[in-house]
Order: sequence, then C-alpha cells, then structure tokens
Amino acid sequence: MNFCSHCGDSVSIRVPSGDTLPRFVCDACGRVHYQNPKVVTGCIAAYEDRILLCRRAIEPRLGLWTLPAGFMENNETIAQAAARETWEEANANVDNLTLYALFNLPHISQVYIMFRGNLRGGRASAGAETLEVGLFSQQEIPWESLAFPVIRESLELYFDDQRNGCFTTRVGDIIRGPDRRIQINRY
Ligand code: ZN
Repeated sequence: MNFCSHCGDSVSIRVPSGDTLPRFVCDACGRVHYQNPKVVTGCIAAYEDRILLCRRAIEPRLGLWTLPAGFMENNETIAQAAARETWEEANANVDNLTLYALFNLPHISQVYIMFRGNLRGGRASAGAETLEVGLFSQQEIPWESLAFPVIRESLELYFDDQRNGCFTTRVGDIIRGPDRRIQINRY
C-alpha cells in the first residue's frame, strides 16, 4: 500500500499509539489502514459417490484440479459464497450445504471454510475460470494434480468420513514452516 484510500496522501508503516503491530498509517489524515485475513470458501459437491472438481483456467496453478472455491464477497453469507463460487466455476447448483471443514492458513493470512452438499442433478460444466469439470470417486481423483494442499486435505478427510459412514466437522492448520515445507495439523 502506497497511498491513503481516504485522502490520497502517502502512508508509512508504523505502530499506532495504543497498538502492538505495525500498520499502514496515513501521513496526512492519520487514518490507520488495517489489513486482516481473507475468508475463502468452497464446496465439496457430491453426486452419488463422486464429487465435483474443476480444472483451473487461471493462475495460480493453472491446469491443476481444485474444488470450487473463492473469496467471500461483502454482503453475503458464507454459505451463499460457497454456492456462488460453485455456480461461477462449474455452472452447478448445490443443495443442503453443511459446514464441513475450517482450515487456518496463517502463512498467507487466509481462512478456508469448506462446505459439503449435493450436486443437483449431477450437472456441471466449465465456468469462465475453469478448463473442464469432472465427477470423481475416491479412486478417480487426480491426487497428483491437485492445485493446493488445502484441497488435498479436504478431500482426504472427506473420503475418510465417507468410508466410515459419518461426517464430522473438521478443523485444521495448514502451515508453511521455515523450511518452506507444508505441515498440516489436524485437531
Ligand atoms: Zn489519509
């Protein structure tokens, strides 16, 4: 951030009085521009024993497979956001959305909230940000071509639960350590 979105003057990074962390602070009007984590939400949309995946038409991870997911917008609920992303990326309607998993990704300041639901009619097709869509059983999932660790983790938990016949809401941390390796804590 270079300029104040309130008055257009330059900003500096400093700790405001009474605060504990450095923030962007306007040099002219003094406004503090807080930056906070973003919420990403998506959907495991199931049809019989298969789930919907989308192959990404955009960077990052162009060409790799993902669950329909994206940033929550202002003025919508988290479930509306998950359904909207599924519609935008896969032209697919989902029913009976149930909260399934929450993942903290502190190294990129994101929180992922994944739902599971029913893919209405088993119908889906590629949206603007998608090269192709597919319905996959656990054996058919392109495990070596998934876009992000959070997608792999969501799918592993989901198919574990599916096999056990009982879905429980999951919470986990997906952390990139100092050696850059991804570490996953389930709890
Ligand atoms: Zn300002």
